Amino acid sequence: MVCIVSASAKRAQSPLTTSGTQPGPLPARLLARLRAICGERFVLTHPHDLRTYQSDGLLHYHVVPPVAVLPSCAREVRDVVRACHELQVPWVARGAGSGLSGGALPIANGVLLVLSRMRRVLEVDLPNQRVVVEPGVTNVAVTHAVAPAYFYPPDPSSQIVCSIGGNVAENSGGAHCFKYGFTTNYVTGLEVVLPDGAVVQLGAKQLDQPGYDLLGTFVGSEGTLGVATRITLRVIPAPEAVQTLVAFFADTRSAGLAVSAIVSAGLIPAAIEMMDALAIHASEQMAHAGWPSDAGAALLVELDGPKAACDASFGDLEELCRASGSTGVRVAGSPAERAVFWKMRKAAFPAAGRISPNYFVQDGVIPRTRLPDVLGRIEELAVEYRLRVANVFHAGDGNLHPLVCFDANVPGESQRAEELSGLILEACLEAGGSITGEHGVGVDKRAYMGKMFTPQDLAAFEMLRCAFDPDGLANPGKVMPTPRLCGEVPGPYRVHPLEAAGLAERF
Ligand SMILES: Cc1cc2nc3c(=O)[nH]c(=O)nc-3n(C[C@H](O)[C@H](O)[C@H](O)COP(=O)(O)OP(=O)(O)OC[C@H]3O[C@@H](n4cnc5c(N)ncnc54)[C@H](O)[C@@H]3O)c2cc1C
Repeated sequence: MVCIVSASAKRAQSPLTTSGTQPGPLPARLLARLRAICGERFVLTHPHDLRTYQSDGLLHYHVVPPVAVLPSCAREVRDVVRACHELQVPWVARGAGSGLSGGALPIANGVLLVLSRMRRVLEVDLPNQRVVVEPGVTNVAVTHAVAPAYFYPPDPSSQIVCSIGGNVAENSGGAHCFKYGFTTNYVTGLEVVLPDGAVVQLGAKQLDQPGYDLLGTFVGSEGTLGVATRITLRVIPAPEAVQTLVAFFADTRSAGLAVSAIVSAGLIPAAIEMMDALAIHASEQMAHAGWPSDAGAALLVELDGPKAACDASFGDLEELCRASGSTGVRVAGSPAERAVFWKMRKAAFPAAGRISPNYFVQDGVIPRTRLPDVLGRIEELAVEYRLRVANVFHAGDGNLHPLVCFDANVPGESQRAEELSGLILEACLEAGGSITGEHGVGVDKRAYMGKMFTPQDLAAFEMLRCAFDPDGLANPGKVMPTPRLCGEVPGPYRVHPLEAAGLAERF
């Protein structure tokens, strides 16, 4: 198995991860077809327009696509995909482009299929607790469509911009997934345009269809199996009461022990989020919550449910925090104060830009009980690499988001930051965790797939992918370590052309 090593020196040259690649020419008849399908105005070919789409949220990868097409409905998506299939042109689906793993990174010789015009809420069926939406609808708009009696629980911090189509493709999580589960627990049906242009229904409004779980397969497939054009979601009744507190600790180790104490006591908070001192310092500059400047860690915990149950458990929660060594507890006394607490947490990623010219957002998962060890290891690595790392994460799920701060203008610092990020992932794997909790593999982490999975596992993934997309047209170059052809099976060692060119290494 050949893996593209994520060292930036190689990344900069790799044809698979090319940055700033000039768009390749597409067949003129394809462009004519696209214009006939979507209208001249929604087929963008001017470099100024295309630069908007050159990256997703992971800005250090950029590829200007030769064309971006913005269909208005499922039929247009189908026709675009069919046209690409007929001419064997690859394509990449893009929602809001907020992904952090380069999943929606365009390809230099393909079509970028932008779904942001498809923003209609098609049906609100509260008696059956379902909402049917187009893929470009934002995450927060789903809750807005059913509030105040209902809500849609998976809540990525990017929820005001990210699209439901992107959430489905990434199986996105959020602060409230500890109690409520991830996107996959809320998608009951999908209409999908397959890479050959066929339109299929996976799942339905009702749960648990017979046969193979193709719906579950599609959720989290990062745009490599087709385009979701119509999404049926489960919504649930809004809780009667919500109570939120923030507990401060001297360090992340004691905050981590508090997490274990809360869970072991049988409490099921809606959310348990942790921020370390540097993350608090950064967020404070945006949210101005007035949290103590000497806090080594903050634990944001929210209980929800029937009021009587919330009231009964809230005292226990406060007590558990104090017994675990909390240096102070603040309870949100009003919805406005709760909003400020959450602003502190949700502003953490952008706030890192206030304390550092550049930063990588890392995303890994570990068993919750290993939090103190792995946070300790991250601290050691930060010292060794002479870089600052801010930690903000879904502590209940053991889903870490170290923000590795660096200054790209200081020679060697980007490389050190990248190496440090990689070692954090390795620490997650050593602790029995995973290379991604919710941001996906995309282009960024495919080099690590071989560290987490055996060649046999990867071959099985390839076969599944080929069952949906035998021609390899859907989001090629993403997720899997090397693009392989359908039917290719592991065989005797042969030097891969990328290896020969010095762009990849075998490990
Ligand atoms: C500040 C910030 C905070 C974030 N917080 C969180 C968080 O708490 N939890 C979390 O999980 N993520 C988080 N993210 C990451 C990101 O917002 C999510 O991954 C989100 O689901 C991406 O949605 P999008 O519409 O932007 O998708 P894009 O970035 O456009 O695309 C993501 C992937 O989905 C595919 N795709 C998009 N639409 C479709 C479709 N209709 N059919 C098939 N494939 C499709 C693309 O090809 C790509 O592979 C955060 C990002 C930022 C910038």
